[in-house]
Amino acid sequence: MSLDGQYDEGNIFAKIVRGEIPAAKVFEDDDTLAFMDAFPQGDGHTLVVHKRSRARNLLDVEPAELNAVMATVQRVARAVRTALAPDGIVVTQFNGAPAGQTVFHLHVHILPRWEGVALGRHGAGMADGVELGALAAQIAAAIV
Ligand code: AMP
Repeated sequence: MSLDGQYDEGNIFAKIVRGEIPAAKVFEDDDTLAFMDAFPQGDGHTLVVHKRSRARNLLDVEPAELNAVMATVQRVARAVRTALAPDGIVVTQFNGAPAGQTVFHLHVHILPRWEGVALGRHGAGMADGVELGALAAQIAAAIV
């Protein structure tokens, strides 16, 4: 799987959007959904997806869908700042397997960073569900 290809309706984020598998949800509106990364690179690692878009990456997304995703990224990043008081926030997005993409439903990572705290490996160990739920609730409470 890389830059080109058919959108797979069975991808893990499509299943989360349809409610077929659980996620620690942070924020949802008509267009977008934000939830905690289940294999976080650090505390507060959050993902934002479009709920109806069939885009696999930045190159094939409709601009209006991208606008909705990025508006939610900004909103959630502000809430992450309020809730977790990081020293910085990284926003990343991968296109194609060689670039590090593993789920082919367009998504944006929000990664809070603290001075002197190294990032974990991308897609490493699975987080504790209770801890993820607590972080999600903390960030959700800071959404304005
Ligand atoms: P990417 O490598 O940019 O495609 O990112 C996919 C992200 O999805 C990785 O950071 C994974 O940790 C994360 N991930 C995979 N499965 C799940 C899941 N079931 N719930 C939440 N995040 C997931």
